Amino acid sequence: MRPVIYMDYNATTPCRKEVVEAMLPYFEHDFGNPSSDHAHGWMAKDAIEEATTTIANTLHIQDNDIIYTSGATEGINMVLKGLAFETNGKKRHMIVTSNAHKAVLDCCGYLEEKGFDITYLPVDSQGLVSLTELEAALRSDTLLVSILYANNETGMLQPLSKIGELVHANNSLLFSDATQALGKVSLTSVFEHSDFACFSAHKVYGPKGIGWVYRKPNENGKALPGFIHGGGQQNGQRGGTLNTPLIIGMAKAIFLAQENLERETKRISALRDFLEEGLLQIDQAISNSTGTHRLPNTLNVSFPFVDGSKLLTALGLKVAVSNGSACKATSVAPSHVLSSMGIPSGLAMASIRCSLGLSTTSEEVKQTLDIITTAVERQRADNILWEQRYSKTEQT
Ligand code: PLP
Repeated sequence: MRPVIYMDYNATTPCRKEVVEAMLPYFEHDFGNPSSDHAHGWMAKDAIEEATTTIANTLHIQDNDIIYTSGATEGINMVLKGLAFETNGKKRHMIVTSNAHKAVLDCCGYLEEKGFDITYLPVDSQGLVSLTELEAALRSDTLLVSILYANNETGMLQPLSKIGELVHANNSLLFSDATQALGKVSLTSVFEHSDFACFSAHKVYGPKGIGWVYRKPNENGKALPGFIHGGGQQNGQRGGTLNTPLIIGMAKAIFLAQENLERETKRISALRDFLEEGLLQIDQAISNSTGTHRLPNTLNVSFPFVDGSKLLTALGLKVAVSNGSACKATSVAPSHVLSSMGIPSGLAMASIRCSLGLSTTSEEVKQTLDIITTAVERQRADNILWEQRYSKTEQT
């Protein structure tokens, strides 16, 4: 049997060989607790400090801007809840985009239960924030605006500099969920315009279970109150023994990703464009992600008259992609990201996202195109509505 082609790098990535090699000594030999005051501890502490400097230098930020977390979900919780509870009831309003990651939406649901006021800002048909609507939604008690910088389903990038201008003119803080941007596009605008941002290593060929929060060190960048208490690590901002091997692995992954960013962007966007153009040759196919201001590795296409979950099942043993639906306990619902763009639920459910990565080859892309084209055609051949639509067009 042919191996399954992996086209779901936005979900997660494999660890690079160099990353695994960099981590290995810290699991067994150099196992010390970085908080311990003896040689083993000092060695671990030094290794973490070096890794932090590597991340900071690679991304042109400061060591102190980095707070380690278990991943982006924790980072989101840390920033949203941490800031909310710090306000002592003074600023109780937040704005989040309606296409935000579930971690943001679920946090906001929790904060609403605790009496915070949340505005869910609509996005346009491309998934972009309307600056006029953002300006209208800002209030004197708006504490934070949370933006999904790089959309995990469509790859669209938000215009952060204009958003930042509006948010800061209102004396509010800007949080960017830049999880999908790390290692795929430049982060200059994220660090320039956001007060906080979150990242995760497993999206960038690093290990799972480690990430970090960026905290801007200027007058806008509020100190984050301790959210996980215990031990006083990371200046009291996040207690708990630091995970030396995972931090080392993440630093290596970020360094390698940035080193190859330009070359890899060119390579991968050419492959993505080839696949996207091919998929759009399928009768009636519609792209949900357009323009150049988007991640170079992501495409999202809808196929009318196709049942998305059946399509995914048909593809499952051949190519790993994700679709435009989300499974809840008792039902399958269209993706809230596509719905927020005004895409009707039937069409959203008939969508697939392909996200390409480091190991993607042009041969895999050609095979993927063939496999998806055949699967869509088979689905439609079994769909009476497709037949009827066709005969109607032929008669006119
Ligand atoms: N935010 C975005 C945009 C994501 O794509 C993800 C991962 O799917 C997350 C947050 C959560 O990341 P983690 O798996 O590190 O908790």
